Amino acid sequence: MSERHARHRDNDRSDPGHAVVVGASMAGLCAARALADTFDEVTVLDRDRPPDGPVPRGGVPQGRHIHVLLPAGALALESLLPGLHEDLVAAGARTVPTERVRACLNGHRLAPAHTGASEVAASRPLVEERVRAHVLDHPSIELREGVEVRGLETDDARRRVVGVRIRERADDPAHEATLTSDLVVDCSGRRSPTPGWLEELGYAAPPLEQLDVDVRYATRHYRLPSDVLGGDRHLLVGPTADGAVGGVLMAIEGDRWVVTLFGMCDTRPPLDPEGFEAFAAHLPVGDLADALHAGEPLDEPTGFRFPADRRHRYERLDAFPAGLLVAGDAVCSFNPIYGQGMSVAALEAVTLRRLLSERGVPDAARWFAEISPTLDTAWDLATTADLALDCVEGPRSLRTRVLNAYAARLHAAAAHDPHLSTTFQRVMGLLDPPTQLVRPGSLVRVLRGTLRRQATRRAAHTDSACGT
Ligand SMILES: Cc1cc2nc3c(=O)[nH]c(=O)nc-3n(C[C@H](O)[C@H](O)[C@H](O)COP(=O)(O)OP(=O)(O)OC[C@H]3O[C@@H](n4cnc5c(N)ncnc54)[C@H](O)[C@@H]3O)c2cc1C
Repeated sequence: MSERHARHRDNDRSDPGHAVVVGASMAGLCAARALADTFDEVTVLDRDRPPDGPVPRGGVPQGRHIHVLLPAGALALESLLPGLHEDLVAAGARTVPTERVRACLNGHRLAPAHTGASEVAASRPLVEERVRAHVLDHPSIELREGVEVRGLETDDARRRVVGVRIRERADDPAHEATLTSDLVVDCSGRRSPTPGWLEELGYAAPPLEQLDVDVRYATRHYRLPSDVLGGDRHLLVGPTADGAVGGVLMAIEGDRWVVTLFGMCDTRPPLDPEGFEAFAAHLPVGDLADALHAGEPLDEPTGFRFPADRRHRYERLDAFPAGLLVAGDAVCSFNPIYGQGMSVAALEAVTLRRLLSERGVPDAARWFAEISPTLDTAWDLATTADLALDCVEGPRSLRTRVLNAYAARLHAAAAHDPHLSTTFQRVMGLLDPPTQLVRPGSLVRVLRGTLRRQATRRAAHTDSACGT
């Protein structure tokens, strides 16, 4: 134990000394950067050994699959790590203004959305590698790789977490050491052990809210002509109420395109090349299959299973030890088809930085209350959209049913209404709250679109769909 760590063992909050972050993925790295403005030392621990360079790693198996960085996430990351965006672009990432994102939802191609904001299109390993490099530039932040956190150390009364029990990967499996700290932030992902650790310490575990979606991904990389989508750089084909399948195509670094096909409930995109392309051909619209016809595959499809949206309701606990916070997927993980996880992690870190600068280290009640609005928005968007699919089993309140009926009309109206499309994309990009979609101006536009569609249908029995 270093002298400094021992000195801060009985931490008083006016002098935060050493923070330990569990997990060096997106949430852990972002949290570490926020903590470094306040703490003398920040140690980030990961049982994995992050590779040199932008390649997938074992601790983040989802990293092989498409990872969209939503506009709000890109802005939050840039505010935490100034210069990151320029650095990503220099490494080959693309800035994709939202009018260059082609969204086909419920069978309708939405009008280009001029939000004034952009996504960042890059592989997940590149984003994480550049974020890691920027975070580790800070002199107070140290990354210790190959270190597994196995438990929490508390004071005798079990009221305060004073460190973590760790095992170095190279050590004897039975050998554990203690790393003392003034604050532990658990960012160990959706299999976070904190609920179990709390119970071992005599606390209640947080209530768990879960929606089974059983999402299966299949991902492949392609070389495609640069004008394959007519200048669009990101195509999203969403599921329809009775067809829980979709796909995403996005330009990334290395002059490559990443293609992820997904199915929900019992539907699995095949992992053999022929089956993969046949699945793409049966999506609700033909844009993605048409694009693949023009391309050359660069690898074999790889799969991933995501069983459920999962939210640990830490904000509902009456008792929680001091000296411990939880962030990122460890609190809430969302159906990945909405591309929210990295952005939510970055937004949480921005909140942490603000809280630290306003009033010092937040207690758990304040922390979980402060991140709740961000989580509520993302959770509500994801689970409501999931419940629009007939095959997803879960409680459908009147509100959920009304919202999903409204969303279907909104998608249809947004096909012809750039203003409505822009409002919608700002909400899905986490830039604006979902209430924007039900303001009088939006309601009138949806109604007008519905009436126009009915009139058009009566006149010509035609519909507007992607690819047309
Ligand atoms: C298939 C898929 C696709 C996705 N697509 C998108 C997308 O398009 N856009 C988006 O924004 N998000 C996406 N996400 C979500 C995104 O991957 C996560 O939200 C994001 O990585 C933040 O997660 P995290 O840092 O909380 O946890 P993770 O990324 O899961 O990282 C946890 C880290 O903790 C380490 N760790 C775990 N336990 C221990 C321990 N005991 N001791 C030490 N270290 C430990 C692990 O090695 C790992 O490095 C997707 C997720 C999946 C599954």
